[in-house]
Amino acid sequence: MSRKRMIYEGKAKILYEGPEPGTLVQYFKDDATAFNAEKKAILDGKGVLNNRISEFMMTRLTSIGVPNHFIRRLNMREQLIREVEIIPIEVVVRNVAAGSMSTRLGVEEGEQLPRSIVEFYYKKDELGDPIVTEEHITAFNWATTQELDDMISMALRVNDFMSGLFAAVGIRLIDFKVEFGRLYEGDMVRTILADEISPDSCRLWDIESGEKLDKDRFRRDLGGVTEAYAEVARRLGIIKESQQGAEILDFNGAPK
Ligand code: UDP
Repeated sequence: MSRKRMIYEGKAKILYEGPEPGTLVQYFKDDATAFNAEKKAILDGKGVLNNRISEFMMTRLTSIGVPNHFIRRLNMREQLIREVEIIPIEVVVRNVAAGSMSTRLGVEEGEQLPRSIVEFYYKKDELGDPIVTEEHITAFNWATTQELDDMISMALRVNDFMSGLFAAVGIRLIDFKVEFGRLYEGDMVRTILADEISPDSCRLWDIESGEKLDKDRFRRDLGGVTEAYAEVARRLGIIKESQQGAEILDFNGAPK
């Protein structure tokens, strides 16, 4: 059997040609990068956990009517997705000040924002993904006004839904990043949620202790990165209470 054709390799994922036209296989790597790939590491088991957490989120978002690229999980590291044309905008929703917003605006990390704030970043590694406004996005035709409206309303629905879901398991959703794509169906085009939703792309703090359960553990050298991701998976009921360390890599009858 020949290996599937690779379509694209990103920092944490690889996309392969799917089994049918219009589908792709999304493979989750263990690679972690930060600060525009200046900092790199391999974190054993991260890909497995992100595959499962992203599956969990996308499946639930489908059930509340947020269209997305997820079709089904194939194995411990791969999922079948719909092929879309990625819109070159990262949409960030923030509930609490942190990260680049705190640095840029001098708002203390942890300060509750007066309301949820949506920000846009232009996906361009060479430029370090600069923050942009709606004006830039439509003027440079990165997305149409309709696509922009769709992205904002879906991102806010994702925020409402995930805030509640995480709060129920003792986790505060500080902020997150999502990406969208154009799904071509005949002569129709639809905007759908794409990429992944995982602790790589969210800030998640324990409600009681404030402990970080996300990629900031890697960015800030706090250690225990995959353990924190496993804790998120455990609280969401994706992995069993008792599962630890290497056992996580074997869950769900995965090939050894
Ligand atoms: N984020 C992401 N990918 C990026 C940049 C940010 O997933 O390339 C996520 C990040 O994990 C956080 C949110 O978007 O949940 C806001 O990130 P921020 O702008 O504060 O950037 P950072 O501090 O990570 O540089």
